[in-house]
Amino acid sequence: MATFDLMILPYAPEALEPVISRETIGFHHGKHLQGYVNNLNAAIAGTPFEGKRLEEIVCTAEGGMLNNAGQILNHNLYFGQFMAPKEGNRPEGALAEAIDAQFGSFEAFQEEFVKKGVGLFGSGWVWLSADEAGTLIITQEANAANPIQKGLIPLLTFDVWEHAYYLDYQNRRPDHLKALWSIVNWEVVASRYGK
Ligand code: MN
Repeated sequence: MATFDLMILPYAPEALEPVISRETIGFHHGKHLQGYVNNLNAAIAGTPFEGKRLEEIVCTAEGGMLNNAGQILNHNLYFGQFMAPKEGNRPEGALAEAIDAQFGSFEAFQEEFVKKGVGLFGSGWVWLSADEAGTLIITQEANAANPIQKGLIPLLTFDVWEHAYYLDYQNRRPDHLKALWSIVNWEVVASRYGK
């Protein structure tokens, strides 16, 4: 019995072009994420983790179960936070106020976020999260880790595994990360912030 399904993208596979190509979406969502889903479903069968939520598995499992569940959770948040490119795209409301208050400005936040993404050695994810009081924090998480493992609420993430950008940007990780700003759906990110 399959426990988890591949998430359905909230946009067409070419909708994020030219920032993320249809080809990259095809591999990243259709092959990589599908692979994590298949691996977890195979690993989870007949174990006490069957029927648990992804978040619970990510906070309690180990080894391959943890890695595959983490990658599913991370990619669901990642693919779910984008929309068609929109110049001048920026957060509003309480999230924008918190970003300004903590980082000085939206531009200073973007610079710090990209710097942490560029500086992450190897495969992983850069995250904007909030603690229970709404305080924002940028973290680098290696491999399949997710900030919920630290008790944080994940808001926004850029995937810095090479599979996320190599077809479109080759080794130019900084260019890819900077380009992602125009496709962030800040309404989704703000809803995760919940303030
Ligand atoms: Mn990925």
